[in-house]
Amino acid sequence: MKFFRYIKNIFLGIWHLLQGMYITMLNFVRPKLTEQYPENRGKHVYFERFRALLTMPHDENNHHKCTACGICMNGCPNGTITVISKMENDPVTGKPKRVLDKYLYDLGGCTFCELCVRNCPFNAIVFTNQFEHSVFTKERLVKQLNRPGSSLAPKPVQKPEVKVSNGNVEGPALHKGQPVPPEKTQTI
Ligand code: SF4
Ligand code: SF4
Repeated sequence: MKFFRYIKNIFLGIWHLLQGMYITMLNFVRPKLTEQYPENRGKHVYFERFRALLTMPHDENNHHKCTACGICMNGCPNGTITVISKMENDPVTGKPKRVLDKYLYDLGGCTFCELCVRNCPFNAIVFTNQFEHSVFTKERLVKQLNRPGSSLAPKPVQKPEVKVSNGNVEGPALHKGQPVPPEKTQTI
């Protein structure tokens, strides 16, 4: 019995060796896909879900959407985000209001889990695929995401919904039941 097991193990060993050689030869003749970086910079196609850098988008008026609520900072598992807020008088109401002063993001500590983006109730932060971050000191990996002089985007003014029915305006209490001027009367 021992002799047959010995012979069987020899053939099994040869078989496994051939399997390994087959994989090696297959990869030897396959076309090579070497990324010519940085020569292909700008042409390289990234995966859509690739996460490389947390950013805070600003519009053309230097407005962002961050209310400094701190949800992202409190939810970050490794303390990568620091939200520093300050109090300012609201120009519309005249009351003091908390606004964003500095949004600090430590890229060196980020695990790219995206919890911050998913938990932000205002869609104020997003991940981009910008991945070139070489610096000489780790302190330079701490980035301020809100731009200098930026502020919270004002809320869009919502027009009151007004319906016209049987010559009367229906909608806000101010107009309810009032007859519609002839030029504004609509036929429903
Ligand atoms: S990024 Fe979003 S969750 Fe974080 S402080 Fe700003 S509004 Fe709040
Ligand atoms: S991706 Fe994760 S680790 Fe990075 S800042 Fe957001 S919550 Fe923190």
